[in-house]
Amino acid sequence: MNLESLYQDIILDHYKNPRGRALLSEPAGESHQVNPTCGDEVTVQVALDAAGNVVVGYEGQGCSISQASASVMSELVAGLAPAQGDEIRRAFVELMHTKGAAEPDEDVLGDGVAFVGVAKYPARIKCALLPWMALQDAEAKAGIGSDQEGTSAP
Ligand code: ZN
Repeated sequence: MNLESLYQDIILDHYKNPRGRALLSEPAGESHQVNPTCGDEVTVQVALDAAGNVVVGYEGQGCSISQASASVMSELVAGLAPAQGDEIRRAFVELMHTKGAAEPDEDVLGDGVAFVGVAKYPARIKCALLPWMALQDAEAKAGIGSDQEGTSAP
């Protein structure tokens, strides 16, 4: 089995068996994102648990790439400190802008590495990024984005 078909299998598995797909009972922030060119929709909710780690809820509909990406996003980010989740989000966004030429770091991206092939198809990049954009927006609305804390200190 070559790498490309292995990656396709990972994406298909997340699509058919989404991890942690449910909405939260008490979200601190929520974002609904739509990708009109493909018809994808995703709602991502975030909150912090007692330890200050991110709790993620989501639901959506659309193509296998958008929905699998939401599942991978939830699996990767849930339970981490906001700053750690941010780092993974940035790595994933970066991966999607490599035109498929990157050798993604599985230690950072987990099953997210499977999307490296998607980066070759400009029309599908939006699909893959949709849940991650929703995550960023939901965190900003909840006031738990770490961008401000991490980088803006003089
Ligand atoms: Zn799509």
